[in-house]
Amino acid sequence: MRVVDFHVHLPLRDAGGDPRGALGLLLREMGEASVYAAVAIAIEASPAVIRRHVSPSKLKRAVEPLAYDWKTLSHPSLYGALVNPERSLEDHLRLIERHLAPSEAVVEAAAASGGRVLAVASYCRLSTPEEYVERLERLRRAGPLIGVKIYPTFHFIRPDHESLEPIYDYMESEGLVLIVHTGCDPGLWELPAFCTYATPRYLEPVARRHRDLVIVAAHMGSYSYLFPGIYFADALRAARGHDNIYLDTSATTLHQVKLALSKVGHEKLLYGSDYPYFSGLHMKDILEAYLEFRVPERVKAAILHENAERILSTLGVRLKPAEGPPEV
Ligand SMILES: [Zn+2]
Repeated sequence: MRVVDFHVHLPLRDAGGDPRGALGLLLREMGEASVYAAVAIAIEASPAVIRRHVSPSKLKRAVEPLAYDWKTLSHPSLYGALVNPERSLEDHLRLIERHLAPSEAVVEAAAASGGRVLAVASYCRLSTPEEYVERLERLRRAGPLIGVKIYPTFHFIRPDHESLEPIYDYMESEGLVLIVHTGCDPGLWELPAFCTYATPRYLEPVARRHRDLVIVAAHMGSYSYLFPGIYFADALRAARGHDNIYLDTSATTLHQVKLALSKVGHEKLLYGSDYPYFSGLHMKDILEAYLEFRVPERVKAAILHENAERILSTLGVRLKPAEGPPEV
């Protein structure tokens, strides 16, 4: 079975910050899992933006209603927010910094991948929409950039915010995909107060205003440690009601995938592993579960490669055939 992984990240940290080294690690994983193409998504966050929106006292207020939940007490970041919000915030900012993958690094790696890795830039709240569009143009000249991802959690922006309109107009006319992180995010971003912008509900007005913009709700609105499946129902409704909203399966369970199949149909699901964010597992392990998934082969093929290939080809992106060893 041909496989396109629509949601991976560049393992920059494991490669000491070197994009080419990280590409080598990613291609090795892809080779072992027989994944022939992957969409590598950048992660950018600004401590200044986060500090502007989260103060220690706000953090304390956000965690206090959950103080009697054992899940809160057993979660190091959330417990930390309860007993020492100042320190917890600083620790969290450091944690985020370790996981950043700048768009330029991801595009550099994709450009050197021989067509096997496609890059998705990260939205950045620090620039004006016009500056960001200029940056996207520079990135597109540097390598195979196919889209932009917004993290409503730590970018603190609702995906339907009007300030994003110039970016969406540009993306729609240029055939770039919009990926939006939906659900909660690890650490302090588990707190409902900080993840309410990340419901797929806010993708619906965007999908209506930009009918030619392909929108992917990453994680099907489900990712959450405290409240698993937090916005799953919203994701199903958004994908069912809008031709241009898709769901990616990264960080979800096969049970949820099965439900999504019955509620929105197999044409709307894209396989994603979220590599390297699954501790102790390899890309191959995640994929194996899908290969053994008890659904008809045509459904499996749709999720694992056909939908991705169809979307990419309508956007003018041609994937390299699966044959041959990975090029490093
Ligand atoms: Zn991810």
